[in-house]
Amino acid sequence: MKAQPKASHFIDGEYVEDTAGAVFESLYPATGEVIARLHAATPAIIEKAIASAKRAQPEWAAMSPTARGRILKRAADIMRERNRELSELETLDTGKPIQETIVADPTSGADSFEFFGGVIAAGLNGSYIPLGGDFAYTKRVPLGVCVGIGAWNYPQQIACWKGAPALACGNAMVFKPSENTPLGALKIAEILHEAGLPKGLYNVIQGDRDTGPLLVNHPDVAKVSLTGSVPTGRKVAAAAAGSLKQVTMELGGKSPLIVFDDADIDSAIGGAMLGNFYSTGQVCSNGTRVFVHTAIKGEFLRRLKARTEAMVIGNPMDEATQVGPMVSLAQRDKVLAYIAAGKAEGATLVAGGGIPNNVGSEGYYIQPTVFADVTDTMTIAREEIFGPVMCVLDFDDEETVIARANGTEFGLSGGVFTADITRAHRIVDRLEAGTLWINTYNLCPVEIPFGGSKQSGFGRENSLAALEHYSELKTVYVAMGKVEAPY
Ligand code: NAD
Repeated sequence: MKAQPKASHFIDGEYVEDTAGAVFESLYPATGEVIARLHAATPAIIEKAIASAKRAQPEWAAMSPTARGRILKRAADIMRERNRELSELETLDTGKPIQETIVADPTSGADSFEFFGGVIAAGLNGSYIPLGGDFAYTKRVPLGVCVGIGAWNYPQQIACWKGAPALACGNAMVFKPSENTPLGALKIAEILHEAGLPKGLYNVIQGDRDTGPLLVNHPDVAKVSLTGSVPTGRKVAAAAAGSLKQVTMELGGKSPLIVFDDADIDSAIGGAMLGNFYSTGQVCSNGTRVFVHTAIKGEFLRRLKARTEAMVIGNPMDEATQVGPMVSLAQRDKVLAYIAAGKAEGATLVAGGGIPNNVGSEGYYIQPTVFADVTDTMTIAREEIFGPVMCVLDFDDEETVIARANGTEFGLSGGVFTADITRAHRIVDRLEAGTLWINTYNLCPVEIPFGGSKQSGFGRENSLAALEHYSELKTVYVAMGKVEAPY
């Protein structure tokens, strides 16, 4: 098998197997070929992973921040050296084209280790609070054992975005990748240990929706960070509340992208395409509701159709390929059902709309699809599709489009294309979302906070903000005189 790891889990610095766990297969989405066969974690594996993390964490937290940062930085360097190999693995795991993975996946994971390694070396400092004689100080302390649970669209990036700030702050992490993409996180664990991470601090265990709760409910876990759908988020947050664990929720979206008639139309089309078709549309922050001003609608759709139909669909390992398959057959069928709903509810199909005919029937391919004349109440405008389906909606008036853009339970992201800088800021100020873009879309460098509002979640990943979610404040009051008790 093309990508069979040494064993299913990585615990305490080494690969570990427990054949008592249910067998599951990892399929290459471009061909349906079985590329690895793994076992889901048994309760014994979960105990082993959490126990080793718990044992290793205090010593790690006691190391100097510079020493911790140096290890993370070394991991970043190894990831960059092995970018090609890691990108090929990511392509096998997800089906995403190598053209993307080579620039977006291991490299963004490496950025995360480099950033948090540097930040922590620069100091995760507390404050000194003068109290007129007495004083207090605060310090940021790690939480302990943190659990990361990943989605399948950016498996390596998610494993790093959770692992890097957790480790930088002095925590240990037990990470469970999505059952659809189990392979990348094992490599991240391997690389971290090659870089000098002491054993037990970054463990990877496999499993699905039945395995996740065993981690979330475990009494020795202090925090859970989930990347997944809103329904899963609700379940995980509810379970974590049972033992008052801290949570970070990176959930789904149905984000608006508003294109005004004064926008640079080619940039706006490029932004809309990147924000709908990159990673075959499997990106949580995608701007899937594209509101286009009626004055430019005809021109926008004409150019968008031509550019969409020219996209190269095919073998993800071919560097010329721009569109790979969906991650799984189930996800492709789900997206096809949404396309059928779009047609049935009266949206106008502008491009795509089915399975491409230039690829073998074994892969889970779907054409990049554009619908126009979409209305706010249509199913495709309300629900997260998580596939390459762009909905174009008309608008004329700024006030109304803001209300329509906000008329969703989600609040992950949003964007605006306009040449009017005042309007741009006015709009983003009123859009209800965690991350917003002006005249671009979906750029998420590690330096900026990323996360959602409303049902799209809470907590932030990346940037200095992430440190607050992997540490807590400890306050120390220091008395300089005698205690004067009234009794
Ligand atoms: P999912 O919710 O089905 O699964 C996510 C992860 O949660 C998987 O590892 C799964 O095994 C685990 N899980 C499922 N049920 C669980 C439970 N009860 N307890 C603990 N763990 C459980 O999501 P998916 O289909 O893998 O990913 C797609 C979703 O993720 C989309 O909604 C997308 O928008 C979202 N997403 C969000 C972000 C973000 O940063 N906001 C990024 C990527 C994906």
